[in-house]
Amino acid sequence: MYSILTEDIQYVKGVGPKKAQKMAKLGIYTIEDAIFNFPRQFEDRSRTKKIIQLVDSEKISVVGKIDRISNFRPRRMDITEITISDDTGTCKIVFFNKAYIKNTFRVGDRIKIFGSVKMVNDKIEMHNCEIEYDRLDKNIGVIMPVYKLTQGVTNKDIIGIIRNIFDSSDIKIKEYMPKWLRDKYALCDINFAVKNMHFPDVKENVKIALFRLIFEELLFLQLGLFAIKAGNKIEEGIQFKSSDDLSKFEDRLPFKLTMKQSKVLDEILEDMSSKKVMNRLIQGDVGSGKTVVAQLALANCVLNGYQGAYMAPTEILVNQHYEGFIEFFYNSDVKIEMLTSSLTKKRTSEILEKLENGDIDIIIGTHSLIEERVKFKKLGLVITDEQHRFGVRQRSKLSDKGKNPDILVMTATPIPRTLALILYGDLDISIIDELPPGRKPIETLAIEKSKREWMYLNNVRGQIEKGRQVYVVCPLVEESEVLDVSSAQEVYEELQYDYFKDLKVGLLHGKMKSREKEEVMNDFKEGRINILVATTVIEVGVNVPNASLMIIENAERFGLAQLHQLRGRVGRGSDKSYCNLIYASKSEICKKRMNIMESSNDGFIISEKDLEIRGPGDFFGTRQHGLPELKVANLFKHIKILRMAQKEARFIYADDPTLDNMDNKGIKQKVEQMFSEIDGNISL
Ligand code: ADP
Ligand code: MG
Repeated sequence: MYSILTEDIQYVKGVGPKKAQKMAKLGIYTIEDAIFNFPRQFEDRSRTKKIIQLVDSEKISVVGKIDRISNFRPRRMDITEITISDDTGTCKIVFFNKAYIKNTFRVGDRIKIFGSVKMVNDKIEMHNCEIEYDRLDKNIGVIMPVYKLTQGVTNKDIIGIIRNIFDSSDIKIKEYMPKWLRDKYALCDINFAVKNMHFPDVKENVKIALFRLIFEELLFLQLGLFAIKAGNKIEEGIQFKSSDDLSKFEDRLPFKLTMKQSKVLDEILEDMSSKKVMNRLIQGDVGSGKTVVAQLALANCVLNGYQGAYMAPTEILVNQHYEGFIEFFYNSDVKIEMLTSSLTKKRTSEILEKLENGDIDIIIGTHSLIEERVKFKKLGLVITDEQHRFGVRQRSKLSDKGKNPDILVMTATPIPRTLALILYGDLDISIIDELPPGRKPIETLAIEKSKREWMYLNNVRGQIEKGRQVYVVCPLVEESEVLDVSSAQEVYEELQYDYFKDLKVGLLHGKMKSREKEEVMNDFKEGRINILVATTVIEVGVNVPNASLMIIENAERFGLAQLHQLRGRVGRGSDKSYCNLIYASKSEICKKRMNIMESSNDGFIISEKDLEIRGPGDFFGTRQHGLPELKVANLFKHIKILRMAQKEARFIYADDPTLDNMDNKGIKQKVEQMFSEIDGNISL
């Protein structure tokens, strides 16, 4: 069927073959591409100011009469200066390499300019200007779209092209969103949306258009991810058999699994016994007991004659897990080893050899595990702990060492469900949102820095007198002159030689040798150290149940998810535990954030709120997730729309997974188009 939309852009008035080549660099080949190439932002040029009102660096329109035009050529430059005045003052407009301007306007003309204000030696200048006669012009004096550009294509070019498209032909886009969906969310018509994304009559129309386009983009994204996920599972994996011996391991535990742990374990075992490759993410708040679930999954793997690998982000953690695993598999013939970069050469090659021969059943290690030389005889299950520390690549590097091993990823940085569906779209998600019984919520108190000494002398002393131990976490290792941030070293000295001469204070930071770290950690575990001052090396996983107070210095410098992680180091025993956050900022945001920490113990709620207040920040970094590029939507900014779109996506997908209903045909085409850019063959 012929449609004007698919026509080559070069035939649009004012384009031609040369410009069309340049437009191709922007991904614009057809008329459709051009009108769906939305501006990055709009500049409101309807705002004009008098010259006297101009403020440095603002972008604004000014109207005035030309007093003087001059042109000169210092070195190889060409500078044109136009002086204009209104009834409040005069201002100079500066153009670089635009000599033609001096012939376009004359002294006495009334002109309207739009540009950036620059204060130069206390005088007002305007740079990067566009200039027009002062009459109602199509480009200036309205809300002006600002497009992404490329060499040889100016913003004005694009505006002109799109205007020509709309002026010269009757553009009619066929509505592809089903009517019921548009009615339900009051989504505007696609033609209205597209037109107003370029030339809105009023600002409100941009909002209306954007809402529809963001909604549909997120809907298509989610539908596409559902389809990818459904397709993923086709790969043939290992079919582990269930074994009665597994329940023996479970029965030996000194506790009963919580309901959620059992449920997640069942989900894992079901995946493992099926033909499909397991790709599962376990999200569980700090202390929810992910480790034992992992241990049971590994036990199942080993009972089937396969090897398992468990990767953790730090050496401290690897050591600790190693001990934990030895204990878990005590009195069985499961052979466990660990691999980190601080082993001797001899020991390392011994382990590598055993691993390759199949003489090791479970290997626990840092990212040393993904090195080329690490080879397995029969790798069946790969578990990565604290996944946000590892890139997606590292995860797959480890699993590539086997033949389609099952994959389990564990994270304690709870990601709001909404985002997890997108960012881990390829993984099935299990959630342990229940803490083992008897845990008392950690009581958190935010304390202004001026009350710091009082806090140490009262709260810390109080816990120590009850026979408990205390963590103190600081943001930096060494004293910094630039930032007034308590450093671990400094705080350690202060506590050991001033406040708590009678006690043993320990120091732990990332710059220590691993043997030293291990020693300190052991002393703390066995109660020889009362107060442990540390940097964030203890962030993940460390388990010392007798510790009942966590103090965090300069808490304002940490993300909330991280504070929550850190806080999770206490509250592991049956005694009531506390967290004191010392903050040194008076900002409103800081107060709000401290407040969230005081009022919630739920990692999911905390991370949602943190996102609301701060945006993604360092929460996710700029990690690549391999998603299609979004034109208008922003996963973090538009979380509310995302939620709506996901709800509908789930609904549509459940009803019509291949999107073949009459109503969904338009959507299907759009989803395929969106994902064709990333891998070319999403099949619905
Ligand atoms: P995380 O999910 O943060 O990795 P861990 O696996 O380290 O949590 O578990 C925290 C603590 O809770 C450990 O001491 C562990 O032995 C204990 N634990 C785990 N599951 C249970 C349970 N069902 N009942 C009681 N204690 C449990
Ligand atoms: Mg853990």
